[in-house]
Amino acid sequence: MIGTDRTWLPDKPFCQPRKSLQSRNHPGYAFDMAGTSTTCGWCGRLANMALHGDFTVTVSAALKSGGAVRKTEHEARRCDHCGGLSILRRSGNARDVNSSLYYVESEAWFPQHVEGRDFGDVPEPIASVASEACRCASIGAYRGAVALARAVVEATAKAKGITVNGIASKINELHARGLIREHVKDAAHEVRFGGNEIAHGDLAQESLDKDEAEEILLLMSEILQEVFQSPARVQRQRQKRLDRKAAKAAEVPSPTKPGVSSKSED
Ligand SMILES: [Zn+2]
Repeated sequence: MIGTDRTWLPDKPFCQPRKSLQSRNHPGYAFDMAGTSTTCGWCGRLANMALHGDFTVTVSAALKSGGAVRKTEHEARRCDHCGGLSILRRSGNARDVNSSLYYVESEAWFPQHVEGRDFGDVPEPIASVASEACRCASIGAYRGAVALARAVVEATAKAKGITVNGIASKINELHARGLIREHVKDAAHEVRFGGNEIAHGDLAQESLDKDEAEEILLLMSEILQEVFQSPARVQRQRQKRLDRKAAKAAEVPSPTKPGVSSKSED
């Protein structure tokens, strides 16, 4: 069946062009009746999104060659998993008003799936910003993601009572106090470098790409792991062991002397 294996990634923002070699033929719109899949913006599952009702077409411009037009299509699609309705919007060139797009320049789902992350054992205000950084990256807002990652590193030091001026000194102090190891200190500095240009308004630099932003978010996660999550895990395990020990001590029966009647008060 044509095209059923097509997947739109949720991190493909509308402003980014996407080339498609797939052309679809009217009438019948058979390709779309077969459904298409994406990560649903409502339930977060990768699901088939079936065409629901009619779709609308806007013709925004007539192109010069051979009467071709630029079209935008809006389709209502229902998630097979949760039943939620989403809008798929596609723009591109078509041969004429009545024909389907032969070149898809951009496409986007609304609502878009946004991926956050759960940072257990991290203090709530920091965990919330860290998760927001991940959500930024999942919609292609890489500079926003990295700027927030830098803020997470600085807030981590503050949460540990480090108030020296400047993020670089704070990172060094985290290391000096034994809260992070040498390589995690280097990771923190990498996050700092990544976010510095944005934080200081040097926006003329090259834009960040996806791989670089994701790498920086991984480093941010390692810092949270080292400072909050790993110590909390160790503490939980220690507590479990102590609880077991206490329970065992409470279970030991008091020694009974054989032949001594329990009614000795008589
Ligand atoms: Zn769904």
